[in-house]
Amino acid sequence: MFERLENILSQLQALVEGFDASGLDRARSLELYESLCRGERLMHAAKALAGQHLADSNAWYDTDHRSPAHFMAATAGTTISHQCHMLEVADLLPKLPETDRAFRSGALTEDKVIDLASAAALDPESEEGLLALAEAASLEEFRAGCARVRHAASSEAERHQRAHRRRYLRHWINIDGEFRLSASFTPEAGAQIMAAIEPYRQKVADRSSRKGRKGRAPAGAVLADALLEMARHDRTAGDGSNPGPRAMIHVRMDYQAMMRGYTVPGEICEVPGVGPISVAEANGMLGDALVSAVVMDGTDIRNVIRMGRVIPARMEAALLERDQCCVVPGCGQRHGLEKDHVVPIHEGGPTTLYNLCRLCGWHHYLKTHIGYGLRRRLGHWLWDGPWAEQCTLEELQQDFSAAAR
Ligand SMILES: [Zn+2]
Repeated sequence: MFERLENILSQLQALVEGFDASGLDRARSLELYESLCRGERLMHAAKALAGQHLADSNAWYDTDHRSPAHFMAATAGTTISHQCHMLEVADLLPKLPETDRAFRSGALTEDKVIDLASAAALDPESEEGLLALAEAASLEEFRAGCARVRHAASSEAERHQRAHRRRYLRHWINIDGEFRLSASFTPEAGAQIMAAIEPYRQKVADRSSRKGRKGRAPAGAVLADALLEMARHDRTAGDGSNPGPRAMIHVRMDYQAMMRGYTVPGEICEVPGVGPISVAEANGMLGDALVSAVVMDGTDIRNVIRMGRVIPARMEAALLERDQCCVVPGCGQRHGLEKDHVVPIHEGGPTTLYNLCRLCGWHHYLKTHIGYGLRRRLGHWLWDGPWAEQCTLEELQQDFSAAAR
């Protein structure tokens, strides 16, 4: 093997030393670049397999490095975490024969094989689809596809706990005297942070774009300025009333997933630019921020929902006045009442007085989880269920406006 490799390397070296692409036409110069990339990928695959062997055989004991990954990182000039990922990939490859074949044929970059192996190991049935995606899609689209598979393969509670457990925010001054930040959050926390920065980012980007093409700051610099502006704004607002621009979170989800309450493989519920989240998490984010949900039905946009869970103080006062006890006929419970959207927010129910009511904990539970429902007839609430036909917004609106006359 060494003799063959030495042969190839010396030929390669001779080629590079005498490299001159100036005589190539346009088509050939594209072809040349593609071939060289394939060569690079083949080398990466061979390196991964060699790395696994030096780890398994404890050959790295003969070096003065702390671990196989430390040796590989120092020798290859990459990061230790990257080499840890490559060692994990090499361990997974025997269980993923299609991926193994593609990697050895020079079809996969290191970045792609890391994502692919970690996703396909959790859900082996996804391997074929992800390989096709690796070939056709951009790195970004491919990563999103792998993230969806990993997301679907673990339970919502596991994911949330893991992300929550790993949360951190660190800062330090580097050797050039720059302030550095690194952080990790749950996706819904990330979505809220990015949504809070967004209005400031737009202001900074507008200012920057007025300076013309040359004066325009790169996207990362704009985002950094926006974070600083947000921090300054929060400090100067002081009274907690935050008069700043409202934060908007965008969610993309499949109609079926929204109606079911969770996703099945192949369905999407995600915050673009952040990653997949569960339908429950999406609903849970309806806290203080505005949320706009783009509901997909296949490739069509079925609906764009803007939802806000916040009930304005005046509406709340009117609701307390109107519903002095649980609205379910015969209940009469007056303490610890909960506010409910009659037509739920995730089905497009608005935060308006006619779509709100107060329920005791027990009736709220029956309505939310057991399929009981409220209707309005002749100025009174009716309690139906379980699995009763849903009350419509028109029905509510008409009955309340008739009662007001
Ligand atoms: Zn009740």
